[in-house]
Amino acid sequence: MSLVVRNARLLDGRLVDLLAEDGRWTRIDESIAADAAREVEADGRLVTPPLVDCHLHLDASLTAGKPRWNESGTLIEGIHVWGELKPSLTEQDVFERAREIVRWSVAQGTLFIRAHADVSGENEAMVRGLLRLRDEVADLCTVQVTAFPQDGIFARDGDEERLENALRLGVDCVGGIPHYEPTAELGLKEVHRVFELAKQYSRRIDVHCDETDDPSSRFLEVMADDTVKFGLGGRVTASHCTAMGSYEPYYSSKLHGFLRRAGINIVVNPYANSLIQGRLDVYPKRRGFAQLKELLAAGVNVSLGNDVIMDPWYLMGRADMVEAASLALHFTYMSGLEEIPEMLRCATERGARTLGVEDEYGIEEGKPADLVVYDAPSALEVLRLHPPRRWVIRRGRVVAETTPARTTLLGEPVTFAPPL
Ligand SMILES: [Zn+2]
Repeated sequence: MSLVVRNARLLDGRLVDLLAEDGRWTRIDESIAADAAREVEADGRLVTPPLVDCHLHLDASLTAGKPRWNESGTLIEGIHVWGELKPSLTEQDVFERAREIVRWSVAQGTLFIRAHADVSGENEAMVRGLLRLRDEVADLCTVQVTAFPQDGIFARDGDEERLENALRLGVDCVGGIPHYEPTAELGLKEVHRVFELAKQYSRRIDVHCDETDDPSSRFLEVMADDTVKFGLGGRVTASHCTAMGSYEPYYSSKLHGFLRRAGINIVVNPYANSLIQGRLDVYPKRRGFAQLKELLAAGVNVSLGNDVIMDPWYLMGRADMVEAASLALHFTYMSGLEEIPEMLRCATERGARTLGVEDEYGIEEGKPADLVVYDAPSALEVLRLHPPRRWVIRRGRVVAETTPARTTLLGEPVTFAPPL
């Protein structure tokens, strides 16, 4: 089976043809004469390797309204609603809801997802449902599962063991939530325990770290130190890190250096954090985002996640990483001409680095033929228009196609593009 994509615009502006054979790119050149079983005419549209969703609570997706709605929209009511729902969930229910979100994601070009499975409390349905999902959708989408102790591991008897049990069940990453432990001391203990488990079971780490507006929440520096001590550079991710939005400049600059030297990945989740952080402030209110722009400048890898989709914390969402990148762009001041394509890299290649899948990712001869063709010619236009993904290609096969909508005004087409 072969496929050729013609006149595809790369992020660097070059126009190329791409030939895929047996699921891999075999030639990428200005013009390829070969015939192929399937031909896609990109006609100058932008292409990138797949979008990567680095942080998604797939076990909770599509549960909004069950058993009741989050009336206030706050984090704490969301946690309470989720706590009421959790005991009743089944593996089948988790699997089916998560599979539906994978369908939405792939249809919009996201072919890599890091999911979080809540492992706090007695119900194993969340982790079992997502592990089944990972294995069953593997041809369509690469899913990694993180064991996420939503309630911490020291607040309730048995939760520390449940986290380790999830590793035995086969999760890809060990998670944590140190700022949510009853005391800072227990939070420190949790970080160290997460690193010990990762080392013992040879897994990656993805911790919800400092997801608060409290500037004294500083577990990220502990993660950086442990990353060096345990020799896990490149395999450790800290997600959310919203307290960084409240760190003063001196401490921030020290932290940036620590993070770069440790080789930690940072994941920004713009949807929930734009609504949850700063909520208790009087005006002026803080933004509550990790310092994405400054971290990139310091040489730290930053990527993005959808985090929440129609769940107890967020009643909206439709699994589009372009929209997530656009929202993050606004909240982190990434609006310069060169910064706009960098935001798209945060949603694509930087995400692949976070997941540790770089060897099987990218538009290069020999790599898997995965590709997104946007219905727009440039990164700026993609982030401005959030255009349909005209074609999505997985392993050399077109798996999703979208026919763009057509708008007319008094019979004349309206394109939302500047006149040529
Ligand atoms: Zn999260």
